[in-house]
Amino acid sequence: MALAYELRCAREDARRRNIRTPLGVWACESCRHVSLSLTAFNSHLVFAHA
Ligand SMILES: [Zn+2]
Repeated sequence: MALAYELRCAREDARRRNIRTPLGVWACESCRHVSLSLTAFNSHLVFAHA
């Protein structure tokens, strides 16, 4: 859960710096999972990496 939280923070920080993955695609840094929205990405972190 701590790892997922850190990944989520890192991704949100990247978004603030305008270096978000193009086309709103969120790529997981722990596996090759790709989400089409931040909500789906957060759900992936919770269910796959909690
Ligand atoms: Zn993942």
